[in-house]
Amino acid sequence: MAETRRRGLAAAPGLAAGPLALLPEPGAAAGAVRGPLPLGAALAAARLDLEALAAEAADDAAEILAFQVEMLADPALAEGARAAIDAGAPPAAAWTACMDAYIRGYGAAEDPYMAARAADLADIKARVLAALTGEGDAPLRLPPGAVVAAHDLTPSRFLAVAARSPAGIALAHGHPTSHVAILARARGIPLVTNLGERPEGGNALLDGAAGLLVLDPDPATVAAFARNAADETAKAARAAKLAGTLAWRGRPVVLTVNVDDPAAVADAVLKTADGVGLLRSEFLFMGRDALPGEDEQAQAYADLLNRLNGKPLVVRTLDVGGDKPLPGLTLPAETNPFLGLRGIRLSLAYPETLRPQLRALLRAAAGGDLRVMLPMVSVPDEVEAVRALMAEALADLEARGIPARPPPLGIMVETPAAALALDRFDIAFASIGSNDLVQYTLAASRDAPGPVARLADPYHPAVTRLIEATVAAGRAKGIDVSLCGDLASDPKGALHLLRLGIRRLSVAPAALDRVRLAVHDDREETA
Ligand code: PEP
Ligand code: MG
Repeated sequence: MAETRRRGLAAAPGLAAGPLALLPEPGAAAGAVRGPLPLGAALAAARLDLEALAAEAADDAAEILAFQVEMLADPALAEGARAAIDAGAPPAAAWTACMDAYIRGYGAAEDPYMAARAADLADIKARVLAALTGEGDAPLRLPPGAVVAAHDLTPSRFLAVAARSPAGIALAHGHPTSHVAILARARGIPLVTNLGERPEGGNALLDGAAGLLVLDPDPATVAAFARNAADETAKAARAAKLAGTLAWRGRPVVLTVNVDDPAAVADAVLKTADGVGLLRSEFLFMGRDALPGEDEQAQAYADLLNRLNGKPLVVRTLDVGGDKPLPGLTLPAETNPFLGLRGIRLSLAYPETLRPQLRALLRAAAGGDLRVMLPMVSVPDEVEAVRALMAEALADLEARGIPARPPPLGIMVETPAAALALDRFDIAFASIGSNDLVQYTLAASRDAPGPVARLADPYHPAVTRLIEATVAAGRAKGIDVSLCGDLASDPKGALHLLRLGIRRLSVAPAALDRVRLAVHDDREETA
């Protein structure tokens, strides 16, 4: 049979090979079979099942199940169904119609987070329906090591599938921001979503990072996959052994990760990294109609701190403008946006946006090792303006009896001005943003094609001198200097930075293993 390739969305990285196993369509979610029960009892039964599952589940799964329990406990959820039953509708039909309306509403939401919640509601619908009708699922039978194919999965059905050790999962629908994708990433189960149609059979190879499913692969494709998988396994095994012991030329090296979206970073990565060296807080602001509130932000920072288990979390305040426009906030028609109102300049221009973020950071800092970093800083006045806003926010939180702590305040070194005059800044730490520092040093836009792109060379002597100047100023001030631009995620760049005196590197999660190995392999001086 000829090889066919199907493209979907990359939802959880990893390579999987095995026979394709079709997941039976759920008559109901996995759970105890009982009933038929009246609506009130069916709701209570579904809630009990979910509470029992949550009690056994790991942290992230327990949180998702707890969210479902909360929804089930909300009396408003079944109001429509109750009214329809009172008016004479059959309970199963009334419940189905009521839940389908919610599911359609959530599924049509523009915000991908809200849209992804439709799967949670479908899960609840199926559980209650099973209790209402007395029809449950047959026990799930899946051969271990299979690539499981389904139209879509609810979180609890995912957990049932995950318990059967699949090699990977291929979904016709779903989304990389869904709870299922979050769970898959945390468990290291490769997942591809949005394949369009459910694949129907054959042998499968799945590349979760590429969003690729190959059916009935040719021998050459199988061999290439096997080589990749063996390489990845060997690298991961070697890198895992090195966790926590990284040193170079006899000096400790701190290796943290950059996080663009906490939902997209696996617990395994947070476990091996020395912390988060850059949380790009834009994930809270992008792709939505309204700005995130103080509570939502405080919760998001606290959640990531919890997952880090005492390791440091460096949160960068909102960094939009330039190559990261945010409709409604950034100016649409700046003649030169990279030199315009971006990063900390924009936040200071709109204190009504910065204030809630600072308050949320002060609150989260009361619960762990959180540090705050300002983007695109050019002059010390910018830091002082933020410090003043922070002091105001702290006083107000304290007056209201809300726990808060002033976090260490640092800056990104992304402008030659900050690199060359670092001694003038009153800061607790600095982190070089090489992506921006290169473009501002060589006057070569970071998103330009062709000849301009070739000018943007992170190894140019002018950039090297600015890095050296920053390291020297950091030493003189007695503060930590790290580098969190993409240069550190390239093994060659990481070694170059170690030679320049940088001992703290913050890298993309996918680069953690390869940078760790490169540093380890180069740790001894060679003649
Ligand atoms: C940088 O400029 O190097 C950096 C890490 O920030 P960003 O890429 O988010 O601008
Ligand atoms: Mg930058």
